[in-house]
Amino acid sequence: MSATNVDPTELQKFSELAHNWWDPASEFRPLHEINPLRLDWVDGLAGLNGKKVLDVGCGGGVLAESMAARGAAVTGIDLAEKPLSVARLHLFESGLKVDYQQISAEAFAEAHPGAFDVVTCMEMLEHVPSPASTVAACAQLLKPGGQAFFATLNRNPKSYLFAIIGAEYVLKLLPRGTHDYARFIKPSELARYCRDAGLNSGALQGMSYNPVTRTYRLDRDISVNYLFQATRDKA
Ligand code: SAH
Repeated sequence: MSATNVDPTELQKFSELAHNWWDPASEFRPLHEINPLRLDWVDGLAGLNGKKVLDVGCGGGVLAESMAARGAAVTGIDLAEKPLSVARLHLFESGLKVDYQQISAEAFAEAHPGAFDVVTCMEMLEHVPSPASTVAACAQLLKPGGQAFFATLNRNPKSYLFAIIGAEYVLKLLPRGTHDYARFIKPSELARYCRDAGLNSGALQGMSYNPVTRTYRLDRDISVNYLFQATRDKA
C-alpha cells in the first residue's frame, strides 16, 4: 500500500485491540457510548435515510453500521486490516449491509470524487499525520451540497487533563497512549482545513463526559470532545 498520510504505529494500536471492538465493556466502551449521540446529531442535520454515506476511518464499524440501520447506503474505509475484518464479520451478526474497503481517504477520493451525500470522519483526524489532507479528501468526496461531519479532540490544558490524564490514567477508560496531545485539533484549525478544502463551516457541537454518572452528553462545552459540520456549496 502506498498511502502516505498514515502513521503505522496508530494502525497497529487499533489492530491489536480490534477483537474487542464490539464489546461495550472493553476499551471501545467510549465509542459505543457516544455513538447514539453522534448518530442522532448527524441524522438530524443530514437525514440519513436514503443517503449515500462514506465513513472515513470506520474501524470496527460502530458508526457505519448504525448509519446503515437508519437507511443510509454506507461505505466504510480504513487502513487497518484487523478492524475491517471485525467490521465485516459483525455484519453477519447485525444483518446490515456496509461496503468495507481498505483504502486511504486520499486514494478513495481520487477514485470517487463528488460521489457522496454525506462523509463522516470521527475520532480519526487526531490519529493521522496530516488532518488537513484527510479533510481535503473528504471535501473532494462530497457531492455539491453534501455535508461532512468530523469529530475530534480539542487542544488546550483542559483537554489534556480530561482526555489524557483523566481518560487514560485516572478513569482508565482508554489504554495509555491512545491519544497524543500534540495531534489534538482546535475547532479554529479544523475550520481552516475546511475552508482551504472549499468547505463551509457549519454547526459546532460539544460532547462531554460526566465521570460521576459515567455518561456522555451533547452540550455547549467544546473544550474536550466536539463535533463539527461542514458543507460543500450547491454547485
Ligand atoms: N471512526 C470510528 C473508529 C475510530 S478509531 C468510530 O468513531 O467509531 C480510529 C480509526 O482510525 C481506527 O480504525 C484506525 O485504524 C483509523 N485510522 C488511523 N489512521 C488512519 C488513516 N491514516 N487512514 C484511515 N484510517 C485510519
